[in-house]
Amino acid sequence: MGFSTLGINEDLLKAVVAQGYKEPTPIQASAIPAVLKGKDVMAGAQTGTGKTAAFALPLLQKILENKQQNLAIKTLVLTPTRELAQQVHNSFETYAQFTDIKSTLAYGGVSIKTQVKALKTGADILVATPGRLFDHIVNGTVDLSHVEYLVFDEADRMLDMGFIDEINRILKRLPPKRQTLLFSATFDEAIFKLSKTLLKNPELIEVNERNKATTQVEQVVYNVDADRKRELVSHLIGSKNWQQVLIFTRTKQGADALAKEMCKDGLKTQSIHGDKSQGAREKALLEFKSGKTRVLVATDVAARGLDIEQLSYVINYELPYIAEDYIHRIGRTGRAGSTGLAISLLSPDENWLLEEVEAVIKDRLPQQWLPGYEPDLTKKPAKDDFKNTRSAQKRRTKKRASGEKTGNNRRRR
Ligand code: AMP
Repeated sequence: MGFSTLGINEDLLKAVVAQGYKEPTPIQASAIPAVLKGKDVMAGAQTGTGKTAAFALPLLQKILENKQQNLAIKTLVLTPTRELAQQVHNSFETYAQFTDIKSTLAYGGVSIKTQVKALKTGADILVATPGRLFDHIVNGTVDLSHVEYLVFDEADRMLDMGFIDEINRILKRLPPKRQTLLFSATFDEAIFKLSKTLLKNPELIEVNERNKATTQVEQVVYNVDADRKRELVSHLIGSKNWQQVLIFTRTKQGADALAKEMCKDGLKTQSIHGDKSQGAREKALLEFKSGKTRVLVATDVAARGLDIEQLSYVINYELPYIAEDYIHRIGRTGRAGSTGLAISLLSPDENWLLEEVEAVIKDRLPQQWLPGYEPDLTKKPAKDDFKNTRSAQKRRTKKRASGEKTGNNRRRR
């Protein structure tokens, strides 16, 4: 089944063909007709499944059908991070390249002035992070009174990052009569709670089994002592001659320290996290994409939404505290049909984190010892600090379900 059978207009089809897409992905085949019919949609889809086009194409089509002379924001897309906002905006621009539809951006970490100017000039689509959008609302620099279509992209992440207050305040400024689409890689109680307040009689679309990690990705766990992880990573990348590797750490400091050490090992490495300026993050990403940098070390927040074509290797230097993040992390590889390898390094004191991940993905991950890097089982495991305890994790999960902010989720605008 080609895109043309989905009812997509010629100019949009031209852009799709120019992108080299031959067939709609499963999420596109399900979501495009539902959105065109005017249905609210709740879709479970990870990054890498083609979810952006699944909402962008039918919304562009709807805007084209009712295009008026004066520009007004008809479509509002909320994303958790700047990177994802940028990426979604780029996708809208790509798919709308043969039309006169305009998209603009509003996210934090950069000067608000340029955005104010762009908003004044006018656009049909606004892609925004909740914090910065709320700043524009307070300053009176955005008019949301014409919004007809609202998209929540990576809604689970938005809740994780504690954006619920901003979301509720933004919702109050939107016309009540609208079509709302909610995309989330994972579904939990908090998402269902949000969906109840947001969506009217939604069509539920699930292309992957709920909370299931992508199957094109081979997943392996290497047991290794914490103080030998860096050595193991450099060994793997060097001996296997991997050219583009994305590594996840839990903290910004950890990301910086690891990048520095890896450079000393002769592997060109950069780090990317929330404390780096937008410019620095974009530069690091560009250099990684172009192959100038071989290894990119990222925190979960910074990596969300990164779209790197043909990324084959993801390494979890540490497993995430929020088990669902594991799915997002490994979703960076095995995208749009290609295969990938996701390696997790597990020190003996991190077993409980693996159990959390396995509970979320409803699967057991194969564990291996790598010759020369076997863990020293005579060593005493490091004492868990408060954040690492299982009860603390449970408290956070509970808080998240009730829509409260969790302590380990930084809010960023
Ligand atoms: P997304 O899940 O929206 O982040 O998309 C992931 C990647 O898949 C992007 O690089 C898209 O350009 C690509 N993509 C989206 N739709 C298709 C399609 N129908 N055929 C091939 N690639 C696609």
